[in-house]
Amino acid sequence: MSRTTTYAVIHLDAIRHNVQQVRLAAPHSKIMAVIKANAYGHGLLRVAQELKGFVDGFAVARVQEGVRLRKAGFQQKILVLEGFTERDELQNLADYDLDVSLHSRHQLDILQQQIKSKKIGVWIKIDTGMNRLGFKAHEVHDIYEQLMLCDAVKKPLNFMTHFANADDKNDSKTIQQIALFKDLTANYEGEKSIANSAGILAWQDSQTDWVRAGIMLYGISPFPDSTGVALNLKPLMSLHSRLIAVRDISAGETVGYSGTWTSPNATKLGVVAIGYGDGYPRYARIGTPVLVNGERVPLVGRVSMDMITVDLGLHSHAKAGDNVTLWGENLPIEEIALYANTIPYTLVCGITPRVEIVESESVI
Ligand SMILES: *Cc1c(COP(=O)(O)O)cnc(C)c1O
Repeated sequence: MSRTTTYAVIHLDAIRHNVQQVRLAAPHSKIMAVIKANAYGHGLLRVAQELKGFVDGFAVARVQEGVRLRKAGFQQKILVLEGFTERDELQNLADYDLDVSLHSRHQLDILQQQIKSKKIGVWIKIDTGMNRLGFKAHEVHDIYEQLMLCDAVKKPLNFMTHFANADDKNDSKTIQQIALFKDLTANYEGEKSIANSAGILAWQDSQTDWVRAGIMLYGISPFPDSTGVALNLKPLMSLHSRLIAVRDISAGETVGYSGTWTSPNATKLGVVAIGYGDGYPRYARIGTPVLVNGERVPLVGRVSMDMITVDLGLHSHAKAGDNVTLWGENLPIEEIALYANTIPYTLVCGITPRVEIVESESVI
């Protein structure tokens, strides 16, 4: 393994396993791999390369992410989920053959002024309840008719929507969103896409022509009450560092900024070379589990920029240089997210450039 202090291992085999799980869960749909935000922190081109033989398309958030994929030679369908905002982005969409999500009249105006352009693939985004982007039910037909008249738009037109609460398996809002979308699009010929990872795993009716798999490809559960491992997914990323010091402290001493933790007894304190400057969550609570030489110990005191402190216990034999895992095998990222009052999406996206990325073929 690497000699570097603080590193994330990307377990490349895991992504092939996970994409098989998407296939098994949604056998009749084409798969769009969602690789926005640097593939959720795992590396855009690295992940695209691993996936390219196994998926039917890619989805990114921004035009520039799509351009980067095309420049690297990827030829699959690429959908830009946020679409475009400025007229000058259309040139890139056309030149690099990127599909766009169309969610506003502002975008329609820009397209309508485009006369002699290469044609762009368009997905009409319908707002079925998320209330973030998209057209309301009563607008859909009008938008469709206007787009059909646009020279710059490929036909047929496609349709998509996005879930608000699909990670809650008991929330009937998802059933309503699916029903509204199907009702609004039943009479149009283009392709349809509803499901994100939670849809793929929990809402079979949302599996239409295309599914958009994000978090599950990275081996992480979309549900707050389960882990990727429990869903037969394999985590793609594990995060590691080392102990840089082991110190004796007495009962009653406080540790770290603001002295938020007072040691109840004499113990050994481990100092680990990772902090929020690496993307370890600043708000991880006292008690958040950390693995030192494979054993669970609790985080104590505040997370600082470059270090965290853990209570090794009075009888620990751990020493400077020993291995530390922040999430990965035997320490699900979903558990860390709960301790840090966040979701695992933010943890993987938040890894900073200081953390060295080490690729591994072996699955954890
Ligand atoms: C991010 C995103 C997805 C993927 O969601 P996951 O929960 O990661 O599977 C799908 N569709 C849209 C529109 C998105 O923005």
